Amino acid sequence: MARQCTAIINLNAIKKNYLYAKSLSPQSKVIAVVKANAYGHGAITVAKYLEDDADLYGVACTEEAIELRECGIDKTPLLLMEGIFEESELKLIEKYNLITTICSQPQLDWLLSFDFNKPVDIFVKYDSGMGRLGFQDEEFIHAVNLLEKSKKINNMTMMTHFSNADNLESTSTSKQIRKFENIVNTKTHASSLANSAAIMKWGQSHMDYIRPGIMLYGSSPFSDKSNLDKLTPAMSLSSSLISIKSFKAGHSIGYGDRYVCEQDMDIGVVAIGYGDGYPRSAEDGTPVFINGVKTSIAGKVSMDMITIDLTNVPEPKIGDRVELFGNNISVDEVAEHCKTISYEIFTQITQRVYKTYV
Ligand SMILES: *Cc1c(COP(=O)(O)O)cnc(C)c1O
Repeated sequence: MARQCTAIINLNAIKKNYLYAKSLSPQSKVIAVVKANAYGHGAITVAKYLEDDADLYGVACTEEAIELRECGIDKTPLLLMEGIFEESELKLIEKYNLITTICSQPQLDWLLSFDFNKPVDIFVKYDSGMGRLGFQDEEFIHAVNLLEKSKKINNMTMMTHFSNADNLESTSTSKQIRKFENIVNTKTHASSLANSAAIMKWGQSHMDYIRPGIMLYGSSPFSDKSNLDKLTPAMSLSSSLISIKSFKAGHSIGYGDRYVCEQDMDIGVVAIGYGDGYPRSAEDGTPVFINGVKTSIAGKVSMDMITIDLTNVPEPKIGDRVELFGNNISVDEVAEHCKTISYEIFTQITQRVYKTYV
């Protein structure tokens, strides 16, 4: 491996974060969310590592589920959190032992007209305020009634998703919980509401199944980045310094001359760019970590490289490792400088980045 752009993934950190989620709601079962390749951390490896712990895995689609099954994740039930996209996928549910979510009328019709060999478990989604997937009030009651009567269904879990659980000031989450409780008979059916933010801050939402995603990977689900100290970052993204040059004050750096040297200074080039998934939106001042100190990006991110300010970096040399985020710089801090969230940064990491597991 010549170009040393690597993501080191600490599986033990993911386990630690998992156990932390579990400890916040010990009576709940845990649906470990591994959709989108476990938020870029590698779904197969993560799912294998948590196999003795997780009660279920949450994925986005049958393709993601089948990939896990074919790589030996054969015991843990897999939840399709958006359900199926076409009727032909119903046969995969029995074949691969999947649990589908029913979020729409077509999904409901397909399910009720399919011949299963034995009754299946399902989740039914209620739109308690998110305004995205799920049945609204009367339609939800109607769907649940039909499903309760059907002989095709074994256990049914009532599910909803929060739109604003990461914002502790918002009243939406309490409203959504109230709406959910009013419409769902939680005595008859199990319930699942909480994503990471709700697991950490909205205890009344925990109920039967919690659905931690981002917290497993050690990033804060909160918009104000609180409670980070409780989580251990799982991914450390780094590359190496490949050039060091001195410039006079007034010289500009990189595309569009965005950064202009304020004084005579040294600029380093690091072998990582948006072709590796490092966001092109990273502004000047986005932190990076090298030789024990924090410094920052100076100039636009290129496809294969970034340029950094070496002014206060002790003894920089070609080959020095540069951390983009990990143990010294939180991905959340980087995300803020890119006007995005860690979820997007993680899931944009490309194939070109060499992944290793510790
Ligand atoms: C992605 C997802 C989650 C996990 O959300 P986090 O904020 O990452 O914890 C939970 N539930 C559903 C339905 C999801 O799609």
